[in-house]
Amino acid sequence: QALERNELFLHYQPKIDMKSGKLAGVEALVRWQPRGDRKLVPPEVFIRIAEDSGLILPISNWVIDQVCAQLKQWHSKGLEVPKVAINLSARQFRHDELKTFILDSVELHQIDPQWLELEITESALMEDADAAATILSELKLLGMTIAIDDFGTGYSSLSYLKKFELDTLKIDCSFVHEITLNPDDAAIAVTIIKMAKSLGLSVVAEC
Ligand code: MN
Repeated sequence: QALERNELFLHYQPKIDMKSGKLAGVEALVRWQPRGDRKLVPPEVFIRIAEDSGLILPISNWVIDQVCAQLKQWHSKGLEVPKVAINLSARQFRHDELKTFILDSVELHQIDPQWLELEITESALMEDADAAATILSELKLLGMTIAIDDFGTGYSSLSYLKKFELDTLKIDCSFVHEITLNPDDAAIAVTIIKMAKSLGLSVVAEC
């Protein structure tokens, strides 16, 4: 009903390049404001329900379509937004029609798939690692980049880092928000950054 009533909208959280201070991209975050209600439904509440019920699929497809439309609009206005990241749920990542849906949306709104980054959690990838590796390389072939979301919290194996074609690690915010106070968090963050650099991956600090 939230979809039908047009109650969902997207927030775009900026990602800043720490060297240049410039906008490196944004992450699209879905929000729900029921009509007549001033308050938003917390995303951790409705996204979990959407995932459990399968409604995450139509919601995620709506997000992909909105992001493509928004990118087209920004670019036609001369606004430079290098990349928009979209969060993919495990269910959507493994859905047969994901690739077709993205391709259709990209074509409909005439945007370059290189402007899209897909964010997937470690645990979503590891459910069936072989299948995930195939899906990832197919998505990469379309020109999109792949980021691991909430890195460091989902799965303790590092072996997948060499198994998958990845571009970015997003350090989970639990290691970031007290990074100046907690030496353990700082040590973990520094280690992830070093490892990512050696693997040729870029790093995003989630906040
Ligand atoms: Mn994310």
